[in-house]
Amino acid sequence: MARDDLVIERVRHPLRFRLGQVCAIHPRGAHWVRITFRGPDLVGFVSASFDDHVKVFFPAPGEALPRMPQLDADGLPARVPEAARPIARDYTPRRFDPVRGELDIEFVLHGDGPGARWAAHARIGQTLGFGGPRGSLVIPTGYDWHWLIGDASALPAIGRRLEMLPSGAQARVLLTVDDPADRLALPTAAQADIRWLPATDGGALYAALASWEIPPGEGYVWAAGELTMARAVRQQLLARGIDKQRLRAVSYWQRGETARHQTLDD
Ligand SMILES: Cc1cc2nc3c(=O)[nH]c(=O)nc-3n(C[C@H](O)[C@H](O)[C@H](O)COP(=O)(O)OP(=O)(O)OC[C@H]3O[C@@H](n4cnc5c(N)ncnc54)[C@H](O)[C@@H]3O)c2cc1C
Repeated sequence: MARDDLVIERVRHPLRFRLGQVCAIHPRGAHWVRITFRGPDLVGFVSASFDDHVKVFFPAPGEALPRMPQLDADGLPARVPEAARPIARDYTPRRFDPVRGELDIEFVLHGDGPGARWAAHARIGQTLGFGGPRGSLVIPTGYDWHWLIGDASALPAIGRRLEMLPSGAQARVLLTVDDPADRLALPTAAQADIRWLPATDGGALYAALASWEIPPGEGYVWAAGELTMARAVRQQLLARGIDKQRLRAVSYWQRGETARHQTLDD
């Protein structure tokens, strides 16, 4: 019989666009930076799930402020010519403090692209724009076991999930990064077995995952990262009999492509 405490909830939020100013910059590991934004627009920001994302709007080269979407009569982003389009990428709200009105985003410093470049040179006082989250998939914490799998881009979401899992929760985590300096401490009250693997060796991730026995009871698997990895993880787990309803695999980026996001399903 389905357990009431394991119902996954989809929550919609009214679409809001906000500006926020950089008020703190914390380098993390060798290839991440956690940036805290503050500002009156951020009051009332809501993020209900570790799986949420915001659209982050970056200034065009030579401009101080990001171009923000204009809304049409239906309250949806209006179409604008390509040259005038906002520059936007998806990021996880890593932490939001409603009392201080502070939003943390952790950026992977992968080198290329407006997001990674901006974050590498961020300065106190600079302004970015934020859209959403438009919706949240609230995945209960009460499962008998949790598997979390991802590359560097998924570390903010996985870090947030680990922070919210209660004491006694059973979690297994597989994370891929290339630089050992990026193996960050991930605080959690859960009983968590956290394994770090090199990102350049995809085979090591699939082999490690294949060696995990699927525990008894009700579990949930959440995986995100580069498209090829997210797809292969999903295929492996479906082939091993994991129920589709208990498996979420999301492509957070795609090698050689800009701003690619895809939830993997059939
Ligand atoms: C729901 C969701 C949540 C996300 N949360 C975060 C987050 O919290 N922090 C975060 O850093 N990213 C996160 N991402 C991933 C991020 O949106 C992409 O990595 C995005 O492409 C980065 O934009 P960019 O301007 O740096 O690079 P782009 O201009 O998009 O891409 C430029 C080049 O860099 C490559 N590239 C893009 N991302 C990476 C990467 N991570 N590693 C190596 N090469 C890359 C592209 O393939 C392309 O060749 C999230 C994505 C989604 C869909």
